Amino acid sequence: MKRTLAVSIALYIALFLIPLLTAGQFPLLEGGREPSPPPQAEPEAGAPPVPADSSAAESPSPSPEPSASPEPPEPAVSPPADAGASISVLTDGSVREMTLRDFICGAVAAEMPALYPEEALKAQAVAIRTFALYALEHPYHRDAPLCGNWECCLAFSPLEERAADWGGQYEELAGRIRAAADQTDGVVIYYAGEPIEAVFFAATDGRTRSAAEVWGTDVPYLQSVGSAFDTDFPDGARGHGVGMSQYGARQLALAGLSYEDILQWYYTGVEVRQIPYEN
Ligand SMILES: [Zn+2]
Repeated sequence: MKRTLAVSIALYIALFLIPLLTAGQFPLLEGGREPSPPPQAEPEAGAPPVPADSSAAESPSPSPEPSASPEPPEPAVSPPADAGASISVLTDGSVREMTLRDFICGAVAAEMPALYPEEALKAQAVAIRTFALYALEHPYHRDAPLCGNWECCLAFSPLEERAADWGGQYEELAGRIRAAADQTDGVVIYYAGEPIEAVFFAATDGRTRSAAEVWGTDVPYLQSVGSAFDTDFPDGARGHGVGMSQYGARQLALAGLSYEDILQWYYTGVEVRQIPYEN
């Protein structure tokens, strides 16, 4: 990244990303509906995604942040990264600025059922954080880096607005969403030293699709990988099939994988680590 993402990350959201990006997703599914019982993930589905090009993963990354932190070293607890960064999101025709944390919570709630397993929610939170940072460098829209329209960039609406839908379950479900964001605070998916375009979709038919296959452009970390358990998804394949399968993430989490494992399953040859925030 040319600029240090750290700087008071004013994420401007603008994307038309892949128009197909979230096509097929169903933001309405998050109503708190508990998914059907976990069919155990097939063992062989565990074949680790082949690193398309391991050499590239280590390619020269621009020297990270030149430790220009004037403030004294804070002991034990570091300041929350997401809460200290801001991002502009295009929603309903206007640009709204909010903290990265609020954006992530609202987007995770809009993109994934709140009752999905914790590790799946964390994988979703990290994918959304990464997508936002990617948009900062590669805006999808003119007035903001990205928008909250699921048919364009990704689904978003303030977490507080879920209160009406979730009713008495609001505190519990909102708590699950916030935990996923906070427990992965500042964690980002990198490829060759840069945040990736972390696209995702609802479910596929047994394998994901490569970016080359669907969009005609090869992206090293968006290759086709196995996702056999997706065939259990009640509504069939939904979405473009590129990147992380949300239902697949659920199944892998139920099978015991961590969010890092899930992300590395779906995004080939990536690194999952803390971003060097400079708050
Ligand atoms: Zn958009």
